[in-house]
Amino acid sequence: MAELKLSSETRDLTRVERIGAHSHIRGLGLDSALEPRAVSEGMVGQTSARKAAGVILQMIKDGKIAGRAVLIAGQPGTGKTAIAMGMAKSLGLETPFAMISGSEIFSLEMSKTEALMQALRKAIGVRIKEETEIIEGEVVEVQTGKLTLKTTEMETVYDLGAKMIEALGKEKVQSGDVIAIDKASGKITKLGRSFARSRDYDAMGPQVKFVQCPDGELQKRKEVVHCVTLHEIDVINSRTQGFLALFTGDTGEIRAEVREQIDTKVAEWREEGKAEIVPGVLFIDEVHMLDIECFSFLNRALENEMSPILVVATNRGITTIRGTNYKSPHGIPIDLLDRLLIITTQPYSKDEIRKILDIRCQEEEVDMSEEAKALLTHIGGETSLRYAIHLITAAALACLKRKGKLVESEDITRVYNLFLDVKRSAQYLMEYQNEYMFSEAPVAGEEDDAS
Ligand code: ATP
Repeated sequence: MAELKLSSETRDLTRVERIGAHSHIRGLGLDSALEPRAVSEGMVGQTSARKAAGVILQMIKDGKIAGRAVLIAGQPGTGKTAIAMGMAKSLGLETPFAMISGSEIFSLEMSKTEALMQALRKAIGVRIKEETEIIEGEVVEVQTGKLTLKTTEMETVYDLGAKMIEALGKEKVQSGDVIAIDKASGKITKLGRSFARSRDYDAMGPQVKFVQCPDGELQKRKEVVHCVTLHEIDVINSRTQGFLALFTGDTGEIRAEVREQIDTKVAEWREEGKAEIVPGVLFIDEVHMLDIECFSFLNRALENEMSPILVVATNRGITTIRGTNYKSPHGIPIDLLDRLLIITTQPYSKDEIRKILDIRCQEEEVDMSEEAKALLTHIGGETSLRYAIHLITAAALACLKRKGKLVESEDITRVYNLFLDVKRSAQYLMEYQNEYMFSEAPVAGEEDDAS
């Protein structure tokens, strides 16, 4: 009974974790020619922005660009973050994608530039290649605790000890079998008796490749690839922070000397062909929250050849650059703005809102009547897409409360009256402002500058 309870609890927890604001986004929804499909991989509309993001993605995948920056600009709720998430999902697992919000870099634990540096290094991957030798040979004798192997190519006899026993048990190796042993891991692969002659090397899996030995013989080598980020190497090598800091995130500041040493080492590995740099993506949402020092730091950082692709997003128009009295488009200094490839997002049509709501209903496992969906779409058009999305779960709860199975218009109306959207909330404040503390009515023509 206790076990059952545990498993249902675990399922609930996983469920909660899975439905995030963007959990329905599984990619950019482009075809192989990078043309956006109308509705695909959870993405709806916003075709030109998706196409532009796809082109950038292709450049990243080809590894052709480093140190470029992209700005996704558009009104609130027009899918800027969704597009960045789509990019992240379309990148392979090996390409790092780090995501922060502009306000996250302000903390008492580390300077702003250190926080930015850590974010940048989280977005740079290092593929470290390790070659391990494989011994291939014919089993001559199997004894407890000992396997004698005559290698086919070099005519050497190996006595392989206790380490092999475990693997032996599983593989049931007999005298006369041709086997391959990974020297590093001790893993045995049985190749079959005719293997040595048929040279059916594919049986070893894709990770095995052949190298030409000086005497012209072919030898198998197995390539093991580890993918880490520069930030992970920094943390592991920083004397004050053990590697456990990687899990807690409590890395503190990392000294510049540590980073320099690591960069030199990685450069050496690259020279020797042991490592490759994989520039990933750093996504900074709400970029207008950065200040002038951060912008100038990013400007410099982008010039470094190990820089990731920077994708920033903002919903601000012409506004003050934080830390100055100057205004500029999106609150970003003109010199940085000039470096950015700018993608804009457009407001959604009713039809697109409807499709996004359909996808969200599916994602949140909410059954809704056509009529209710039409009403919610109308609300989305009049208020905002985000508000309409939020009403889905609330309406489903209202439906549950009245023991209904299908969310109907009455549930939507109920939650629409319970929760205010921005417009109604502002209107309410205007009406009752005198009853709030420290309330000041906005002066006509005065610009709002919340940042
Ligand atoms: P803000 O400027 O307020 O940060 P934003 O432009 O980043 O807004 P998102 O957070 O991406 O907006 O979008 C709001 C919600 O709508 C999210 O749940 C997002 O996944 C969804 N959404 C937005 N655009 C699309 C789209 N084209 N297809 C599918 N879902 C979308």
